[in-house]
Amino acid sequence: MSALNTAKKPKDFVLSIEGLTVSFDGFKAVNDLSLYVEEQEIRVIIGPNGAGKTTVLDLICGRTKATSGAITFKGQNLTKLKEHQIVQVGVGRKFQNPSIYEDLTVFENLEISFPRGRNVWGALFFRRDAEVINKVNEIASMIFLGDKLDKPAELLSHGQKQWLEIGMLLIQDPELLMLDEPVAGMSVSERKLTAELLHRITKDRSVLVVEHDMQFVEDIADRVTVLHQGKTLSEGSMERVKSDPKVIEVYLGH
Ligand code: ADP
Ligand code: MG
Repeated sequence: MSALNTAKKPKDFVLSIEGLTVSFDGFKAVNDLSLYVEEQEIRVIIGPNGAGKTTVLDLICGRTKATSGAITFKGQNLTKLKEHQIVQVGVGRKFQNPSIYEDLTVFENLEISFPRGRNVWGALFFRRDAEVINKVNEIASMIFLGDKLDKPAELLSHGQKQWLEIGMLLIQDPELLMLDEPVAGMSVSERKLTAELLHRITKDRSVLVVEHDMQFVEDIADRVTVLHQGKTLSEGSMERVKSDPKVIEVYLGH
């Protein structure tokens, strides 16, 4: 055994963005951006309004097509894939407004999100049912809704609806979960619980979050990327980014 083998292996990048640009009628909302997210990392993108944060998520999930550049997820170039294919390779995206089914229960919302596609028959079907029920229960307790399974989603609080939508993504077991302003409109205690939830789910996935709430960012971020005019202005720990004069100038200037 060589000494090299005892060295700690650096974590692999689950997502590599290189030279990413999107131009809307000549306006570059994202401009030659590079960004690397590690396995199990929680990365937060912050930046002033119009910086291009939501557009970055739109590009990754295939809703917006890049003008140039590459987005590599587990070795595949996502810019070549369609939106539904990007979901299939393991990228889940939560939008700002929750898209849950208000008149279905918590259980039903989670159940319909369970990935299907394999063909099953007879006894296998029963086993599958048990598998679905177990998974729904597991996810429901993870999102703090274990005792609300029979409740129609419309009766949940705003924060609980946000958690339900996160649960609907988690049940598909994405390797990269993207969330756009997940704690907007949440109470302080709901924000704390959401931070706890994100820490728990990164045991086997990475999370990319766009968020304004600085206390929340501080609670969750492994690293922070500050976006400004479609480019990285600063990157690193929250501590480092907060004391970067360039970041202070951009935030005070607004
Ligand atoms: P953020 O989420 O950081 O507030 P966005 O990514 O939503 O910013 O937007 C960045 C810039 O790109 C804004 O100036 C916005 O108006 C513009 N933009 C976003 N999407 C489009 C689009 N589909 N067509 C034209 N301009 C867009
Ligand atoms: Mg936005």
